[in-house]
Amino acid sequence: MNLIFLGAPGAGKGTQAEIVCEKLGIPAISTGNMLREAVKNGTPAGLAAKERMDKGDLVPDEIVIGILKDRIAMDDAKNGFILDGFPRTVAQAEALDAMGVQIDKVIEIYVPDEAICARLSGRRVCEGCGNSYHVDFKPTKVDGVCDACGAKVVQRVDDKPETVLSRLATYQEKTAPLKDYYSAKGKLKTVVGQDEISDTAKLTLEAIEG
Ligand code: ADP
Ligand code: ZN
Repeated sequence: MNLIFLGAPGAGKGTQAEIVCEKLGIPAISTGNMLREAVKNGTPAGLAAKERMDKGDLVPDEIVIGILKDRIAMDDAKNGFILDGFPRTVAQAEALDAMGVQIDKVIEIYVPDEAICARLSGRRVCEGCGNSYHVDFKPTKVDGVCDACGAKVVQRVDDKPETVLSRLATYQEKTAPLKDYYSAKGKLKTVVGQDEISDTAKLTLEAIEG
C-alpha cells in the first residue's frame, strides 16, 4: 500500500502518518524530517536546504526528489509507505510517476487556515526522532522531553507566525494543485481534520480502507 498524505502545514499529516504507519506496518516517510536531519548533519543537501526551510520556502525539486528516491529504495519500504510532505509540487508528483511508483490513495487532511495558525504556534518537535507534539493538544509526558526517544523537544524556527503565513501561501500556490492532479486519477480522498487526534485517525483509516 503506497499512500500520500496531503495537506497544509500543521493540518496534522505527520501526526496521522505516525499513527497510521503503525497500524498498517509500513514506514511513514517525511521529507521535512529527512531534510531537518540533513541540515543537522550538515550534508550537501542540508546545506542547500537550510535557508529556504527557515524562511518557509520549498526546497528545490531536484534535492527533495533525490532524497526521496533513495529513501523509498530502502528495504523497509518494500511493502509500501506513507509519504508525508511529498510530493509538494506537480513536478515532484510527475517524478514519482516517472520512478514507476504506483500510488494507491492520496489522503488530503483539510483544516481551515485559522485553525492552522493556532496549531503551529503550539507545535513542538523532537530534535532526535522528529516526532511532533503540541503544548495543548498533544503534550509530552515530561515537559520538553520526547516520549518516544527522550531527546529534547523544541519549536521549529519556521513555526513562527510570520513564516507560517508565507508557508500557507506557498501551499496554496504550489501544493494545492496536486488535489486536481490526483483527483483526475480518481485517487483523492478528503478527511476533515478534527479537534481530537484520535477522531481524525479514525476518519483517516476509514478513508484508506474505504
Ligand atoms: P510542514 O508540512 O509543517 O510545512 P514539513 O516538515 O513537511 O512541515 O516541511 C518543512 C519544510 O521542509 C518545508 O517548509 C520545506 O522548506 C521543506 N520541504 C519538506 N518537504 C518538501 C518537499 N517535498 N519539497 C520541497 N520542500 C520540502
Ligand atoms: Zn524523539
